[in-house]
Amino acid sequence: MSLKTLIAGAAVAASLAGATAAAVDNSAAPANPLLAPWTGPYGGVPAFDKAKVEYLKPALEAGMAEALAEIDRIAANPEPATFENTIAALERSGRTLDRVSTVYGIYSSTLNDEAVQAVEREMAPKLAAFSDQITQNEALFKRIAAVYETREKAGLTPEEQRLAWLRYTNFVRSGAKLDAQAKQRLSEINQQLAGLYTKFGQNVLADENNEQLVIENEADLAGLPGAVRAGAAQVAESRGQKGQWVIANTRSSVEPFLTYSDRRELREKVWRMFVNRGDNGGATDNNTIITEILQLRAERAKLLGYETHAHWRLENTMAKNPQRAMELMEAVWTPAVGRVREEVADMQAIADKESAGIKIEPWDYRYYAEKVRKAKYDLDETEITPYMQLENLREGMFYMAQQVFGFHFKPVDPAKLAVYHPDVRVWEVNDPKGNLVGLWYFDPYARKGKRSGAWMNAYRAQERFDGDVKTIVSNNSNFVKGSPGEPVLISWKDAETLFHEFGHALHGLSSNVNYPTLAGTRVARDYVEFPSQLLEHWLSTPEILNRYALHYQTGKPIPQALVDKIKNADRFNQGFDTVEYLSSALIDMKLHLAGDQKIDPDKFERETLTALGMPTEIVMRHRTPQFMHVFSGDGYSAGYYSYLWSDTLTADAWEAFTEASGPWDKAVAKQLIDNVFSVGNTIDPADGYRSFRGRDAGIAALMRKRGFPVPAAAAPAAAKSK
Ligand SMILES: [Zn+2]
Repeated sequence: MSLKTLIAGAAVAASLAGATAAAVDNSAAPANPLLAPWTGPYGGVPAFDKAKVEYLKPALEAGMAEALAEIDRIAANPEPATFENTIAALERSGRTLDRVSTVYGIYSSTLNDEAVQAVEREMAPKLAAFSDQITQNEALFKRIAAVYETREKAGLTPEEQRLAWLRYTNFVRSGAKLDAQAKQRLSEINQQLAGLYTKFGQNVLADENNEQLVIENEADLAGLPGAVRAGAAQVAESRGQKGQWVIANTRSSVEPFLTYSDRRELREKVWRMFVNRGDNGGATDNNTIITEILQLRAERAKLLGYETHAHWRLENTMAKNPQRAMELMEAVWTPAVGRVREEVADMQAIADKESAGIKIEPWDYRYYAEKVRKAKYDLDETEITPYMQLENLREGMFYMAQQVFGFHFKPVDPAKLAVYHPDVRVWEVNDPKGNLVGLWYFDPYARKGKRSGAWMNAYRAQERFDGDVKTIVSNNSNFVKGSPGEPVLISWKDAETLFHEFGHALHGLSSNVNYPTLAGTRVARDYVEFPSQLLEHWLSTPEILNRYALHYQTGKPIPQALVDKIKNADRFNQGFDTVEYLSSALIDMKLHLAGDQKIDPDKFERETLTALGMPTEIVMRHRTPQFMHVFSGDGYSAGYYSYLWSDTLTADAWEAFTEASGPWDKAVAKQLIDNVFSVGNTIDPADGYRSFRGRDAGIAALMRKRGFPVPAAAAPAAAKSK
């Protein structure tokens, strides 16, 4: 009897009993519905109606045990290693854990309470140890290596060869080739780093929580719009300072204050408080931690056979090596700095006209930029919002998906499909012939226990090697739910984000591959934002705006004059945005190219920025002592450049449409779907892009998009393959 059958049988009993935690713990054969295969329509869907927090831990543990047993069987197979009995067998393994992890992920990100946090604290180290156990399985690695080494002679398809390559490389990159002593050292380093990452993040959080600007006199609120004042009053009240105003030390509080406050000395105070997070000496200072992290990362890279941490991190990306990422950043840096000079001149002119008697400093930038925006573009956000109804824009996205991808969205009857929260709605997605493509779950509203921001999540990847499995994807955001019957109005920026996340969903839905490890959005880090950033462009097309950006009271489409203003202001402040971002990305890369020298982060940052010619009116978006992307985990270390890399592709890909008949050009759409959206990670992204565009992406389109001068001798092609 297989483990799955046993568990599935038991799950029925548990659901009939409406099992409580006690009932689960007491039962001799644990009946845990999370372990059961998904059943029902659409090839099975998550049984959210049966899920409970108390099932998570035992289900994760059972899932890990089952996966390890499966892997041991693959490793111990007496037959010679083949693609089928090793790589395909690995693709088949761990299915219970995949399903449980999906539900666990949904609880962590959207239903997070004390109980879920307790599970997270307990399970995070166990899940990490689990993955170490797999990569350190020597018998398994030998079999993977054998398949990889004979991949070209074994009659494998290109997709199978790539999967063998990916499995092999991931093992090697995690230290599978090291001897026992080196493996031991590697796992010490990993554990030490994990501790330092946690401490780094906690220090930043402590400085954000413990420092604030308290305003006692209403006169000191001069310039702040009503909403910002109300927010500051609310923060004060929540911190026991009712009747005063508090500017918290977080981006969402600080940036509006710097944009609108007329009190220059307070702007400077707030600015200094924010940019010095993690850099204040004392218990929460991150400088020593950064030095240690960088040295451990350098040691680990050497141990694994790489020149630097950056070389290790970039190996499997589209850029492939740090040098090519640096070339792109440097090509954009100089014109962006040039644009900053122009922006500063515009701002200085306004300050001089007002007889402010100042020279623009970093705490003045946002404030005077806002004045320039009003003077030059006459754009007021409050004019746009009444046309931005969430449900209409969602219909607009469906229209886009139908026109460009041939996808038809049809709502699923809530009675027929369980969701994890009543706000969640589900649509089935079909192709023009009526064949099922997948499911799209939509969870739009903010609530307690849901993480901030917006994201896409694939509940189940598309695959076909063992039968046709359709994908399940979801989009999540944090809009404020209106009163019943009232439309939810969102900002232009939020509408862009909505389209962005839908781009990730379409990337998942378009997937047409055999093996789940290569499906949908499971692509390189510097490639994954390209399809989503591209989708943002359709929002401002006349077809979407005229049909779907309708005034919530009059039903009239957004006036062309307003659309023109939005378009005009599109390139506004791009010097600031680019330099603020790029200085952080350059420091990230240079820190990780520096090797094992002992780095003093403040000194390194200061000297590197001086050498780069950083404009004194701007500070890095994330200074080193607070750079969470880079030091609270490995994820975006030596990887902050990825956003620019993806945007280079995005800008160039959009021009493929504008060079043809426009955003709705069927031939360009087909090329895009065939070579980008549907192929997942079955081909090298650079090859996929080249097949789509007929050439590599240069930086000219990016420069046009940002309003920078296009270099005459079409500079280093950014996204060129080696
Ligand atoms: Zn994204």
